[in-house]
Amino acid sequence: MKSKSIIVIGAGIGGIVAATHLAQRGQKVTVIEKNPRPGGRCDRFSRDGHLFDTGPTLLVMPLLYEAEFRALGTSMHEMLDLQRVDPTYHLVFDDGSQLALTSDMKAMQEQLETFEPDSFQGLLRYLKEGGRHYHLGMERLVNRDFRKASDFFTFSNLPLLFQLKPLVRHYSNMSAYFDDPRLKAAFTFQDVYMGLSPFEAPATFSMMPYTELAHGVWYPRGGMYRVVEALMELAHEAGVEFIFDSAVERIDVNEAHARGVLLADGQRLESDALLANADLPYVYNDLLPQDGLAEQLTRKRFSCSVISFFWGLDKAYETLGPHTLFLADDYRENFERIIRDLGLPANPSLYIHAPARLDPSMSPPGQDTLIAIVPVGHMSENGGQDWGEIRDQARKHVFRRLATLGITDLEAHIKFETTFTPLSWHKRYNLMKGSTHGLCHNLTQLGYFRPRNRHPRYHNLYFAGASTHPGTGMPTAMVSARLAAQRIMDDFQART
Ligand SMILES: Cc1cc2nc3c(=O)[nH]c(=O)nc-3n(C[C@H](O)[C@H](O)[C@H](O)COP(=O)(O)OP(=O)(O)OC[C@H]3O[C@@H](n4cnc5c(N)ncnc54)[C@H](O)[C@@H]3O)c2cc1C
Repeated sequence: MKSKSIIVIGAGIGGIVAATHLAQRGQKVTVIEKNPRPGGRCDRFSRDGHLFDTGPTLLVMPLLYEAEFRALGTSMHEMLDLQRVDPTYHLVFDDGSQLALTSDMKAMQEQLETFEPDSFQGLLRYLKEGGRHYHLGMERLVNRDFRKASDFFTFSNLPLLFQLKPLVRHYSNMSAYFDDPRLKAAFTFQDVYMGLSPFEAPATFSMMPYTELAHGVWYPRGGMYRVVEALMELAHEAGVEFIFDSAVERIDVNEAHARGVLLADGQRLESDALLANADLPYVYNDLLPQDGLAEQLTRKRFSCSVISFFWGLDKAYETLGPHTLFLADDYRENFERIIRDLGLPANPSLYIHAPARLDPSMSPPGQDTLIAIVPVGHMSENGGQDWGEIRDQARKHVFRRLATLGITDLEAHIKFETTFTPLSWHKRYNLMKGSTHGLCHNLTQLGYFRPRNRHPRYHNLYFAGASTHPGTGMPTAMVSARLAAQRIMDDFQART
């Protein structure tokens, strides 16, 4: 087959990986990225010797990463210097009780019994179910490309309705394993990664706490951005060309085809096929002619957003573990405030990341690098939220929560501070509504119901990334990239 030219819009994880697969198969690939560096949401900045991963901080689902690096012809373990993070999270509850989630089952048993008698048996049963959901989910849902309805609605998929519990709500399913609301929260908070509340998420997502304990949460020395650097090495080796600091303003289309792109500087580039890694709802709304499809996408459910604080500190807070999570008692109200009211809860759950606990080079000696993340609603249609005010409130909550751990002087030790609000996510990466995880993962937006990786009208326009199948997260962006690249190659083959 003759080599074809392909333009990729966006150098996020999905864009880099799809470009590499295509270039490895002999195609001429050019990636156009609006920002000065690759990585998209998996971004980084450094200041005065402090290094900040501004997006992902957790390498979860390591088996998926391993498989995707293998599909790119290499080994993840050779490319990344990985260490296992155990305990994964230090959970802190409103009543002052704490739980360190660990794969050391004896330590887990000792801790759990102080919360609720016999709850360790509950955990073992819960992990068994999570394991089933994980393995079936990976094999039958995540690693599949649902190109047509009959790929999804098959007779053999029918038992999944019972095996994966997609129709049972995650939180109500927890009653089968625990009574204590703190334990129910400890093993469901991960749903927020899918942009969902455990009160509406399918029980299928017990696969997340399972994989975190069974396969581990990992950290690459040098920070999460090392993953981007490793993927860029592979892309360069395969011959992918990158153009940075260059935004695509429009995708040039005719009745049934995408012809190329118009760049913000007025340049036009043509190609045989296009793959958009920029967030899918944004592409339909801003880069393509307006039609009913764009409008339908805007009406879909979007995941929440976050306010992130990045602090360079002149003092080290060694008592803070790498991943600390404050979980609020009013767990349900927390999700409702964020998801339904698009606001900030009165007593928000929040997360603190101290990367220097895992890799001392993330901070100058004797100092600290801290990231605090407070989940909030995404931008509303009417733009009525006062993000400056919400940011200030969120900041106070972080200090208040840290004080419960005896850290009362943090504010006085801040050398510099950077904050991201939903407006920043929107502006930096063109994420619609500033939604950090794109389209959310409720039942009607999963599997075959998620937007396809090929445009229904422009048959040489493809998509990869968080708002496509299988969904948000770094390893899943790699899966979506591989599936989209395969689809492009299959279409080229079919058209020759
Ligand atoms: C705060 C936060 C925390 C997270 N934590 C984790 C975590 O711990 N673990 C995990 O696995 N995942 C995490 N995620 C999710 C993960 O970062 C994303 O799902 C994944 O990186 C998305 O990759 P993507 O391929 O969809 O591309 P994106 O990252 O969306 O990249 C798309 C690229 O397209 C570019 N672009 C947009 N418009 C244009 C245009 N017009 N022209 C040219 N270029 C354009 C953007 O600049 C961007 O570089 C987190 C995300 C956030 C925001």
